[in-house]
Amino acid sequence: MLVIKNASFSYTSNLVLKDISFNISTGANLAIIGESGSGKSTLLKLIYGEYDLDQGEIFWKDTQILGPKHNLVVGYDFMKYVSQEFDLMPYISVEENIGKHLSRFYPEEKAQRTTELLKVVELETFSKTKVKNLSGGQKQRVAIARALAKQPEILLLDEPFSHIDNFKKQSLRRSVFKHLKEQNITCVVASHDKNDVLGFADQMIVLHDKRIIAKDTPQNLYKHPKLPLVASFFEEFSIIDDQIYYAHQLKIVERSDLKAIVKQCYFNGNSWLIEAKYNSDFIFIEHKDSLEIASEIYLKIER
Ligand code: ADP
Ligand code: MG
Repeated sequence: MLVIKNASFSYTSNLVLKDISFNISTGANLAIIGESGSGKSTLLKLIYGEYDLDQGEIFWKDTQILGPKHNLVVGYDFMKYVSQEFDLMPYISVEENIGKHLSRFYPEEKAQRTTELLKVVELETFSKTKVKNLSGGQKQRVAIARALAKQPEILLLDEPFSHIDNFKKQSLRRSVFKHLKEQNITCVVASHDKNDVLGFADQMIVLHDKRIIAKDTPQNLYKHPKLPLVASFFEEFSIIDDQIYYAHQLKIVERSDLKAIVKQCYFNGNSWLIEAKYNSDFIFIEHKDSLEIASEIYLKIER
């Protein structure tokens, strides 16, 4: 189990994270979400031991994670970290990068492992390509494969699919997270993309204003968001009588007490997102068709 206990941290005089506590069971996938600047990357770096905590402690099983004040070399063998700036070796090939830290005394094993990981990140056809000739998204995939090469117990991923195009993203997510589950690798993923989280995380924590403001399974946080910030991570929503409703919970009906005026319609693939004015507030409704601007609509709430 990974245990973070009352951790506080500041780069300069202002605290970035205050009194952060949570546990992750071995083999679980935990997502850290929050707006840009909320401290997601900092929290990953603290778990990695890149900085010294101002207060609190972090343990992996019986080992305390210590920062540079206590550790000459940052990091631990059982943990790998893929940062937002994946630093690869540009002048050697994809397969050489992935196998960089694997023992050359077991060439067969090394080759087999590299092939397996090329498959996980769907880069089989690029094995001989020099990293400098890859796109940002391809480099990101090499960085993930390299982090997995020596079978870490914990993998820390900072916005791991941010550079990968939409054509590839979903299948790559499934492939990487499936591999982690199969190998029982504990995983902490920082993200602001719900698609990195919904189908994969066992638990998620939401960072805001230095603290954890919500922690639960993705299912529970989606169903009962409690705070607008949590709801906004998932979908468009409206606040009516102090309650949060997702756009698909508002249905257009013939007549009701809830009258709104259509302001804007946005095509959203399977449906349209209707922006409407209700009293003095803007609200969002999911609807199968677009609607005439300035028309009156009546709404029913589906809880
Ligand atoms: P996130 O990953 O959620 O976008 P970060 O952890 O990168 O957030 O940053 C959290 C806060 O810490 C921000 O206010 C950021 O400006 C600040 N910060 C990040 N890195 C440093 C640094 N090396 N020195 C000083 N301040 C930093
Ligand atoms: Mg970040």
